[in-house]
Amino acid sequence: MRGIGRLTPAMILPKATRLTPEQLSEVTVIVTEFGCKIQQIVGAVRTIYAIVGDERDELMINRLEGLAYIDRIDRIQSPFKLMDKRSDLATHRITMGGVTLGEELLVIAGACTIDPKNPNYFYETAAAVKEAGANALRGGVWKPRTNPYSFQGDVKSLDILMEASRRTGLPVDTEVMEEAHIKLALDAGVHTLQVGARNALNYSLLRAIGKAIAERDNAVLLKRSIHMGPLSEFISAAEYIAAFGNPNVILCPRGTTPTLDGYRNHPDESITPLLKEKTWAPVVVDPSHSVGKAAYVPAAALAAIAYGADGLCIEAHVEPTKGIGDDPKQALTPEVLAETIAQAKQLWAMRRVKKKN
Ligand code: PEP
Ligand code: MN
Repeated sequence: MRGIGRLTPAMILPKATRLTPEQLSEVTVIVTEFGCKIQQIVGAVRTIYAIVGDERDELMINRLEGLAYIDRIDRIQSPFKLMDKRSDLATHRITMGGVTLGEELLVIAGACTIDPKNPNYFYETAAAVKEAGANALRGGVWKPRTNPYSFQGDVKSLDILMEASRRTGLPVDTEVMEEAHIKLALDAGVHTLQVGARNALNYSLLRAIGKAIAERDNAVLLKRSIHMGPLSEFISAAEYIAAFGNPNVILCPRGTTPTLDGYRNHPDESITPLLKEKTWAPVVVDPSHSVGKAAYVPAAALAAIAYGADGLCIEAHVEPTKGIGDDPKQALTPEVLAETIAQAKQLWAMRRVKKKN
């Protein structure tokens, strides 16, 4: 056998863009005989079918490859078969707020933490970031705080987040920290579920998110944990989510360890080209948590674009000093955000010219 393990499922690629229901049931009968299951992965252009289970049986593979409507059984040796750049999903495109990632710069902006006692700050921030050119709105409802006595977020903020989304027409991104948050966020209409740096290695949460969005077109913004070593660990975390059927996972470097003196973390936007060699997943860099001080955020944002990022996730607030969570330290004012977005767009355009040459 060619070394196909449980972590590297085989993919069935039909000749057409997807199997008919009759073909799918024929394929299902075959894999079931060998103790396996089929997991459909619905891409924008085509659907592929993962064989989940111990798919090492050559006879099963031969029987599948013998079907007239099957092009081939793909057995890329990779711990992240779906997110791998060589996967058939490489043509898959994720869209958010009218932006197709990879084709146009995506900017997610908004408060670190929504203040449930002062909702107007968030409503004003939402309108201001839209005006500044953001395509999606971020706002923390539940907050992972290093200090257990700090404000931990409040479910009431979910209503504020969705009201801001209705007022601006922007899709929203918010962090979910436990299983119960997933349903609350999805039921409320949150488009993008954020997995924070602290939970990026929480495989049960990743699995729960994967299951919850399998049949929906939501996206996930997966932050890079400071405890992640090789890049494959980051991409494999994305694979945990995609394996349930929805491949809309965006990778978000946000600074790592050890801290660079003066910065909150060690800026890691420079891993973008390395990620792009291994995965088709879009990269949206978070410069705010990376450097941790508003004064350094614009430069870090531009560096990310220079390195090839598809977008930015930036904390912003109409009056940073009146904000809570990280906002007093690292939120940009709407004016600085607008300037940063305009410069990022110029750099993006230069990058495109360079590509064509
Ligand atoms: C945040 O986005 O406010 C946040 C807590 O980010 P991270 O998980 O990257 O620390
Ligand atoms: Mn924050």
